[in-house]
Amino acid sequence: MKEYDVIAVGLGPAATSAAIYAAMGGYRTLLIGEKSGSLYRAEKIANYYAGGEIGGKELFERGLRQATDVGAEIAYGQVVEITFGEKGFHLKTPEEEYEAKVVLLATGVARNRPRLAGVDEFDGKGVSWCAVCDGFFYRKKKVGVYGAGEYAVSEAKYLSGIGCDVTLFTDGRPAPEYAGTVNTEKLSALYGGERLEGIVLANGEKIVLSALFVAEGVASSGDFSRMLGIETENNAIKVNARCETNVPGLFAAGDCTGGLLQVAKAVGQGAVAGFEICRYLKKR
Ligand SMILES: Cc1cc2nc3c(=O)[nH]c(=O)nc-3n(C[C@H](O)[C@H](O)[C@H](O)COP(=O)(O)OP(=O)(O)OC[C@H]3O[C@@H](n4cnc5c(N)ncnc54)[C@H](O)[C@@H]3O)c2cc1C
Repeated sequence: MKEYDVIAVGLGPAATSAAIYAAMGGYRTLLIGEKSGSLYRAEKIANYYAGGEIGGKELFERGLRQATDVGAEIAYGQVVEITFGEKGFHLKTPEEEYEAKVVLLATGVARNRPRLAGVDEFDGKGVSWCAVCDGFFYRKKKVGVYGAGEYAVSEAKYLSGIGCDVTLFTDGRPAPEYAGTVNTEKLSALYGGERLEGIVLANGEKIVLSALFVAEGVASSGDFSRMLGIETENNAIKVNARCETNVPGLFAAGDCTGGLLQVAKAVGQGAVAGFEICRYLKKR
């Protein structure tokens, strides 16, 4: 297990800006994330201070170079789980496990609600967004996991580990590497009465399920909020002026905190978070 003072989840401008401050403050700092997210997708940025017109990817790469130049480390991968650990927090990627005294969430905005009829209707009535939070209630029952990536596999493994009978539904996408049951048929809708009763495939077949755990795309700030009990408002993480969440030692910055979704705001909030993380660690 690798140990750090600070782990920033994300490689975008918010996480990278915070990591620069934390590393320059003398703390062992790791950035974990992927070459993706809003900045990485933006073709041109023309409104960032002194940046002129610059490609999103170039700005992204420059940020990472600057962070490593001042001593931050980078791990490329998806964080699939964050829980409370002995020294603060315990983070998992499919390849590695980490401990950190402080975590910064800077995962950008989540765009991972599946377009599947019935998801809204049965939300909280069988449709769940967090295996760690709700899996317990479905032990020994037939459940589905919706998704086709590493996050979905991680949720499926967690649920079968606590005794659920799990099928991973990829909704027409190729099966990921997973030793359990996978259904790759296209899905049509969820069905049920007061609560979810199952899923209808595009070929008309019905499969009985007690719950469907949505784990689409990459784990988002909303997913981590549910895992750790972080307060949110309108799908954004609630932070104070120091970028602190309601969970001690857990900070958030950038698009995942809502408000203005712009590079300048992400960089600014990352700077505040990085500075406040140093103060927090000094007091600790
Ligand atoms: C097409 C487009 C054009 C834009 N144009 C402009 C513009 O001209 N000017 C402007 O100011 N803003 C623009 N924006 C908005 C700007 O890009 C964002 O506001 C900014 O990038 C937010 O930074 P962030 O660090 O919060 O998130 P992001 O840049 O979205 O970065 C999020 C990071 O988190 C990582 N991540 C997410 N989940 C996980 C996980 N589970 N584990 C590990 N890592 C994870 C991602 O891989 C990514 O590295 C544009 C956005 C888009 C989509």
